[in-house]
Amino acid sequence: MTQQNFLQSVERFIDTATQRVDLPEGLAERIAQCNSTYTVRFGVKLRGRIHSFVGWRSVHSEHIEPVKGGIRYAPDANQDEVEALATLMSLKCALVNIPFGGSKGALQINPADWSEDELEHITRRFTQELARRDLIHPGRNVPAPDMGTGEREMAWMADEYRKLGNSDAINQAACVTGKPVVRGGIEGRVEATGRGVQFALRAYLDHADTAPISGRKSMDGLTVVVQGFGNVGYHAAKFLSEDGARIVGIVEHDAAIFDPNGLNVDAVASFRNETGSIGTFPGAETVDSAQGLTHMAADILIPAAKENAITAENCHDVNYQLIVEAANGPITADAEEVLTKRGILVLPDLYVNAGGVVVSYFEWVKNITHLPFGLMDKRQNATVGRAVVTALEDIAGRPLHDQQRNQIARETSEIDLVRSGLEEIMIRAFDDIMRCKTAQKVDTLRMAAYVVTIARIADFYRAIGL
Ligand code: GLU
Repeated sequence: MTQQNFLQSVERFIDTATQRVDLPEGLAERIAQCNSTYTVRFGVKLRGRIHSFVGWRSVHSEHIEPVKGGIRYAPDANQDEVEALATLMSLKCALVNIPFGGSKGALQINPADWSEDELEHITRRFTQELARRDLIHPGRNVPAPDMGTGEREMAWMADEYRKLGNSDAINQAACVTGKPVVRGGIEGRVEATGRGVQFALRAYLDHADTAPISGRKSMDGLTVVVQGFGNVGYHAAKFLSEDGARIVGIVEHDAAIFDPNGLNVDAVASFRNETGSIGTFPGAETVDSAQGLTHMAADILIPAAKENAITAENCHDVNYQLIVEAANGPITADAEEVLTKRGILVLPDLYVNAGGVVVSYFEWVKNITHLPFGLMDKRQNATVGRAVVTALEDIAGRPLHDQQRNQIARETSEIDLVRSGLEEIMIRAFDDIMRCKTAQKVDTLRMAAYVVTIARIADFYRAIGL
């Protein structure tokens, strides 16, 4: 499958969904296409010569501004991929009801080819190019981390944006999200997408109208294979194992490891940090990466790498009951048809991996309000909590257990608020998906999510008379 199929798959999902929504003529086309894609080519003098780089920033829809979405550093990045990802960003923001349009960016680069200093230089040049066209701007276009980028790159971008000087100086920290906490970031942003995957799966299992997985409506004992062990895959695997799931397989680009008794996620991460690969992890069976997705049947697969992991070629051979799309676009539209016929359920990307952008929204709000979350009511809540403990102890005539006291009188920190806000948003969005699925008799969770989101975007356009 080529990258082109990713964009085509997203367009096909949109086409199918728009047929179910009553749209003004021509609007379906607007929703299916990106409004603009800017290609940037720039040179950076490194190692005694000028090296050329190419990158993109695509804006899918400005129905709400700022537009939002990550910047990917990858050697195979290309315009079609960036446009598909920008489109998905609009859909996911609308699905979880956060006030952003969709955008996405990429730089065609293998970060491993460059030193940290060189990457900083390249990132700062890229930022200058984007800033010149307001493609990085706190009120217009707010990048974030994606594959190959993280807190470090976001800190460089924010700093370069600040140095360039701009009219909206008081809000400049909000020009990107995913910054280190000491540079205006928010607790819980690094884990956010993995945390969102956990909340999405919990929301599925807790919902009254969803089918059980292997007869269970709880995570306990469910077997899980995770594909991709980067930031998203690692955190998802860690949080699901904390909920009682058994991680029986981890599939990476260079090797896959399996243990039917369950892998210790942190031990695998440490082993990979030491050796450079998960392959030959002690006690596990190591197999070729290409066989990773089909090697062992499990209750759940979590593709957490990138698009086109499950295609028309391998979709007949995967054996899972539920696929939870932590990556963007891991299942092509062709493959999804086959999976549906085979009775394999798919929890779709635009819902499952929205945790990243949701916590980015919290960070952006924190930056533009200039007020840390929970500051105003922290003391007040702690005082009320302590009063409740005292009253309960008076009534009971005995001290509460430490755990009870901590639950009632504990001071809430930023990370507690971030996690509770994210969980609320994920539960609400899943309820919206299920309501639509039942009311409109939609076959798949993906289609229900697309219908919800397209109806919402259409409402925005209608309200402004477009
Ligand atoms: N790159 C992430 C995504 O694809 C996060 C985007 C953001 O936080 O703006 O959803």
